[in-house]
Amino acid sequence: MASGFSHDVLVIGGGAAGLMCAATAGARGRSVLVIEHANRVGKKILMSGGGRCNFTNTGAGPANYLSSNPHFCRSALARYTPRDFIALVESHRIAYHEKDLGQLFCDDSSRQIVAMLLAECEQAGVHIATGCSIEQVTVHEGGGYVVHSAHGAFAAPALVVASGGLSIPSMGASGFGYALARQFGHTLLPTRAGLVPLTLSGKPQEQLADLAGVALPVRVASGRAAFENAMLFTHRGVSGPAILQISSYWQPGQPLHLDLLPGQDALDLLQAQRAARPAAELKTVLGDLLPRRFAQRLCEHWLPNRPMKQFNPAQLRQAAQLLRAWPLVASGTEGYRTAEVTLGGVDTREVSQATFESRRAPGLYFVGEVLDVTGWLGGYNFQWAWASGHAAGQAV
Ligand SMILES: Cc1cc2nc3c(=O)[nH]c(=O)nc-3n(C[C@H](O)[C@H](O)[C@H](O)COP(=O)(O)OP(=O)(O)OC[C@H]3O[C@@H](n4cnc5c(N)ncnc54)[C@H](O)[C@@H]3O)c2cc1C
Repeated sequence: MASGFSHDVLVIGGGAAGLMCAATAGARGRSVLVIEHANRVGKKILMSGGGRCNFTNTGAGPANYLSSNPHFCRSALARYTPRDFIALVESHRIAYHEKDLGQLFCDDSSRQIVAMLLAECEQAGVHIATGCSIEQVTVHEGGGYVVHSAHGAFAAPALVVASGGLSIPSMGASGFGYALARQFGHTLLPTRAGLVPLTLSGKPQEQLADLAGVALPVRVASGRAAFENAMLFTHRGVSGPAILQISSYWQPGQPLHLDLLPGQDALDLLQAQRAARPAAELKTVLGDLLPRRFAQRLCEHWLPNRPMKQFNPAQLRQAAQLLRAWPLVASGTEGYRTAEVTLGGVDTREVSQATFESRRAPGLYFVGEVLDVTGWLGGYNFQWAWASGHAAGQAV
């Protein structure tokens, strides 16, 4: 270690990316200190995936991430793949299973992933300071950085910012990483909540609020993005995987269009029903295809309810079109309180995609969610944390 420094590497934030970076750097013989302001590390890992941590996705690739610089994530994702993380999980004998769409979860508990990362850090000689709040970061006179903290001052030639985004402030999220980036001349792209339930207000809220708890499969589209998965009505609006996914692409004011019978031809279905059950009302017919209460609500506010035989071909086409692209206007999102991720952040054009070192401040690194790279729902965000943490851990 060069003189005047307490460590080779300081990592701010003991979350997914910070712990991976620390373990990787430590394994290369670097002396590493992780500085975590919460009372324990890995809180988001613990609460993730309903307590079972959806730790990666077997299909993770650049197309599953949102960023204003879409190619930035390519190199790190290729250098540390889902297969690499699975090998680590298997080497720790953690049992896991694939749910749908390539999502891997622990069989038992997300605590196992935190324990695994801590074991890797311990084996690599990494020191971890929890409950350690940071007062300020200054430049070290011999190059590098000094972190002034509640536990004293630490100095190192390399400082890794792994402090995450703004989602779930009660879990330790802070805007610290953004402020630090700004302090060292970085451009910040506007942040907003992603993978978040959408809220309704006014008429749609009145029409749908009492459906809270009703779920159905949909294909939801906003602009050019579309996702097929479950949607859930809530007391405040809509949620469920399909909605969380589209929320990252949705812009206020933009309508959502929902195919309520995904993978089926609504017109074929209605025509067949009219032939088979001419006296049945539309709400009865739809009640067999959709959750009954939702079908009724559709026929109160969006579709005319009458016996099937009274629909002429044009009216049947109109009804089918509504079922294919039911318009829903969300008024907003539930915000960072419930969002899984933060979109936007440190502009990746000012960060090396090979090492994750700042192009503005030598020795400063950014990894994980603090960067303007945000994954889909389904294990992609942890894969980004592992891949970016690993890349920086190889470089520091
Ligand atoms: C409820 C929930 C469930 C999720 N489930 C999944 C899932 O199943 N799969 C998936 O892929 N993704 C999931 N995510 C997203 C995933 O948790 C994040 O994308 C990921 O944790 C980001 O890793 P990170 O290391 O960049 O940040 P974080 O894991 O958030 O870690 C940042 C760390 O920095 C610390 N910190 C912040 N400010 C300071 C400061 N000033 N000083 C010191 N330390 C600081 C924080 O306390 C925290 O420990 C979920 C998120 C939430 C909120």
